[in-house]
Amino acid sequence: MGCLFCNILEKKIPADVVHEDEHTLAFKDIRPVAPTHVLVIPRKHVAAIHDLGDGDAALIGHVMLAARTVAKKMGLEEAGYRLVCNDGDAAGQTVHHIHVHVLGGRNMSWPPG
Ligand code: 5GP
Ligand code: ZN
Repeated sequence: MGCLFCNILEKKIPADVVHEDEHTLAFKDIRPVAPTHVLVIPRKHVAAIHDLGDGDAALIGHVMLAARTVAKKMGLEEAGYRLVCNDGDAAGQTVHHIHVHVLGGRNMSWPPG
């Protein structure tokens, strides 16, 4: 209820979808921070990584495999890309429905900000 990404899943809010399967949806970030910036979310609402249970191995596995598929689809595989998962306030998580950022198309610095 009131979850932005659940609303995108239910197509109540439009999104630029780049990949979808039984377990996940992937769409372009509205404020990209790299030439390619896609968010991969599970269809099941889980607010954050720290809310995952021991029984959610398949759920988070599907998200990571979908992120890999998205990276390949977006042509990032050869150059490399970064997967980011912000968990909680200190990490800057702003949407409380698990998502993996797929970032690519430029060189990334380390450590992240
Ligand atoms: P977080 O900061 O929680 O790790 O990432 C949330 C991301 O969702 C941000 O990068 C933000 O730009 C993106 N975002 C916020 N609202 C929307 C929206 O309505 N549509 C899309 N496609 N992305 C959004
Ligand atoms: Zn949700």
